[in-house]
Amino acid sequence: MPNNDCLFCQIVAGEIPSNKIYETDNVIAFLDINPVNPGHTLVVPKKHSENMLDADDAVLQEMIVVTKKVSQAILENFTEYNAFNLELNNGQIAGQVIPHLHWHIIPRTEDDGLKHWPGKSYQGDEARIVQEKLKNALK
Ligand code: AMP
Ligand code: ZN
Repeated sequence: MPNNDCLFCQIVAGEIPSNKIYETDNVIAFLDINPVNPGHTLVVPKKHSENMLDADDAVLQEMIVVTKKVSQAILENFTEYNAFNLELNNGQIAGQVIPHLHWHIIPRTEDDGLKHWPGKSYQGDEARIVQEKLKNALK
């Protein structure tokens, strides 16, 4: 069901303009309005889901195939790029601002200033405990 209050549902419906670059039956890709670098693209399912966990598996599969195709086009047509980040902000605390599933293809240059997350260390047995918990949950 489209969500009338949802910006990306409105873009999918063509009610709000976007710089669309590609679409399939279930997925569209358009330029992010505030790019890290030119070509920064959002890959978006046409059917509203709030985040990755409530999306259909088949739609997620289509999204990743679209992502590969669009990423290749960006790298092949903009020689300043030979790398990209694929970023999903899943949930508000993770930085998700638009509550309609999307992920970012961010083409990278060496000096664009985008920082990676800082890493911590596991202490003592912590990694094994976390591993066991998740392994059991995933059985
Ligand atoms: P996120 O923080 O993952 O929810 O990212 C939302 C992204 O949507 C941001 O990078 C915004 O620049 C982008 N955005 C917001 N409004 C629009 C719009 N009308 N068209 C294209 N991109 C948009
Ligand atoms: Zn929506």
